[in-house]
Amino acid sequence: MQGPIDSHCHLQSLTDDERKEALDAARERGVSGFLVPAIHFADADFLLEFCHQHDDVWCALGNHPHYAEEWQDGDQQRLRSLLSDPKAVAVGECGLDFFYDHSPREQQTRVMREQWELAIELGLPVVVHNRESNNAMLDIVRNPEMADLTGDFHSFAGGLEMARELLDRGFYLGLSGMVTFRKADNVREVLPIAPRERLLVETDTPYLAPVPYRGKPNRPAFVVEILERVAQELGVPREDAIDLTNKNFFRLFAGAANG
Ligand SMILES: [Zn+2]
Repeated sequence: MQGPIDSHCHLQSLTDDERKEALDAARERGVSGFLVPAIHFADADFLLEFCHQHDDVWCALGNHPHYAEEWQDGDQQRLRSLLSDPKAVAVGECGLDFFYDHSPREQQTRVMREQWELAIELGLPVVVHNRESNNAMLDIVRNPEMADLTGDFHSFAGGLEMARELLDRGFYLGLSGMVTFRKADNVREVLPIAPRERLLVETDTPYLAPVPYRGKPNRPAFVVEILERVAQELGVPREDAIDLTNKNFFRLFAGAANG
């Protein structure tokens, strides 16, 4: 029986030794796939090489809103050519973060739009980071030009109203270790309203380790605890939750289904 897929783990943030150990430990527990989203544009070369060494690892390429200021003229074109690699199955991690505001908001918005336009052009899904930016995000999501956009709102904690609108528009929600936190009712509350075919599980390694590993560095092996909690909340057997979330992963990140 295959285990769950970690749909969001920043393995590029680990050292070589840690990365090897993390993959071994996860595979040992049956974790059957890993999607590694870029943070910086500069991650791309490393990620593609790394993915080509592992049949069960894929990447998203793009620019995280924290580093929107690094995005330069011509980067959309550079990204377009990098995304021709079959191991790059999504655009991201892109989005908005009005909590940390590490980059100016207009810049974050512009850089996200450029990446979304590219995703639509290439028929790829986006991996979206959204923190304290629901309204600005919805302004863009609702734009008719974005009607064909799909993707994963990862580590979703945007509340019920946001979840409803995103789900109506065909997006997927990524459930992270937060789903196991005692006080995270605001994360678990989306489970009863979300169609099951739109749920993904992820660790967001190296952050947000689930219970009982809270405070430790997070690792893809812990997606098992996240999956188990999701199964429990949905009231389905563990195997069904694995089957469901893995199918969802390959439906959304269709490029990963081809190898
Ligand atoms: Zn991330």
